[in-house]
Amino acid sequence: MGLPAGIDSAVIDRLKDAAGPGGWTADQDLILPHLVEWRDQWTGSTPLLLMPQTTHQAQAILAICHQNRIAVTTQGGNTGLVGAQIPRGEILVSTRRMTAIRSIDPVDDAIIAEAGVVLTRVQDAAREAGKRFPLSLASEGSATIGGLISTNAGGVHVRRHGMMRAQVLGIEAVLPDGSLHAGLSSLRKDNTGYDLKQLLIGAEGTLGLVTAATLRMVSRPQVMAVAMLGLETPDQAVALLHRLEDATGAVAAFEVMNRTGVELAVRNTPSRDPFPDAWPWLALVEFEGSDAGLLARCEEALGAALEAGLAGDALLAQNETQAKAFWFLREEMSAGQKPEGAAAKHDVSVPVSKIPQFLAAADAVVNRLVPGARIVAFGHCSDGNIHYDVVQPAGMEPDAFRALAPALIEAVHDVTVGLDGSISAEHGIGISRRDEFIRREPPTHLALMRAIKTAFDPHGIMNPRVLL
Ligand SMILES: Cc1cc2nc3c(=O)[nH]c(=O)nc-3n(C[C@H](O)[C@H](O)[C@H](O)COP(=O)(O)OP(=O)(O)OC[C@H]3O[C@@H](n4cnc5c(N)ncnc54)[C@H](O)[C@@H]3O)c2cc1C
Repeated sequence: MGLPAGIDSAVIDRLKDAAGPGGWTADQDLILPHLVEWRDQWTGSTPLLLMPQTTHQAQAILAICHQNRIAVTTQGGNTGLVGAQIPRGEILVSTRRMTAIRSIDPVDDAIIAEAGVVLTRVQDAAREAGKRFPLSLASEGSATIGGLISTNAGGVHVRRHGMMRAQVLGIEAVLPDGSLHAGLSSLRKDNTGYDLKQLLIGAEGTLGLVTAATLRMVSRPQVMAVAMLGLETPDQAVALLHRLEDATGAVAAFEVMNRTGVELAVRNTPSRDPFPDAWPWLALVEFEGSDAGLLARCEEALGAALEAGLAGDALLAQNETQAKAFWFLREEMSAGQKPEGAAAKHDVSVPVSKIPQFLAAADAVVNRLVPGARIVAFGHCSDGNIHYDVVQPAGMEPDAFRALAPALIEAVHDVTVGLDGSISAEHGIGISRRDEFIRREPPTHLALMRAIKTAFDPHGIMNPRVLL
């Protein structure tokens, strides 16, 4: 493809120089993997991929873009689910070469990682230091620190450890004019004015390019246990969550999967349902703690939950292989849908107490609008965050379903908002939810957000199609 309209080729040469040797390509074959995303929902284009290796190079690139009003899209591991990392003609800046772990300090419980470091590497580095980095999600083998910060990613341990926002002590970022926000603090307490890093977290790349972060480590739990339970209803799931938490004080993850999700995962992936009975819901519970009596308390709590009728069956993983198999089933909930055709996806949250109400009302709406649609509801029950995916009816033309999807999504989001929920629990707004976000958000919130955007990025060059 050609250069974006109005950009001098001399400016493009300056950008290539700024990125340094090995730091750019215009070869469309090499760029192609950066232009499609995991679910094949978004495709894009760019004339140039820039891959700075140092903060200084990133500063030089953004300064040139700022001076010349050149729009930029930033990309980390390209696992985002709302299309924000896919350029549509903008210059693409990838952090794939910013991969150093600059320091790790087990006394300050802090690790400084560059933006392009993949999450599993941070987890491994913390483990090697005798600590733990508690953020965990199914894309952890590809998602990067910069992307996780910019989407304020959640995952499976949020109830106990918080979202990415809670793991970040400090941020180094290049602002849109090329200047540096040098904020790699490891302080846990710092009340000196506005906390600027909090604005960069969850900004989806619209306020600057995160180049590195100081991340908080926690102690390693000595005992971990994973259980799978078979349930009849989502009401049981909510009651079970509290019962197990009250009895053990150690629930680290509490995930649910509905029958349709389990069936599609078993049909289309190497995962298996651990129960002989086809329970309408499965709950996957991970416990963590450090006292020697924890395992016995977990067993006792599971037994008591069965006796109280909060579950119909329960399995406590007997070894790591079994625990991994339980998690594998949960992680394949999305992959299991893929061969079944088109799907309308929702990443909603409601107060935990309202999960059963949400599911009943959303199911009714879907069944009315698209009879025969297959509802895959799964996710982070302990955070009220349900991934509510509607897969096209078997045999329907995918395009016919896609034509119905906007009305379906709107209706499910109406249910969500009516229950005091959020239309984006953890994936962000990106381009896929932008119009709806702008329509639903109170004007005063939008005005403040736009003022913040203008203060950081007066020429609007950073991820210009995203969020606002
Ligand atoms: C199988 C699967 C499971 C997932 N599970 C979860 C889950 O449980 N919880 C959850 O929250 N998310 C989940 N996700 C979503 C995804 O992994 C997260 O959004 C992740 O945080 C994105 O990281 P990334 O490096 O891939 O960023 P990208 O996808 O490359 O980018 C995402 C956004 O961040 C911006 N960005 C990236 N790097 C930078 C940077 N250095 N500076 C500024 N902006 C930047 C991009 O412009 C874009 O707006 C899942 C995704 C997949 C594919």
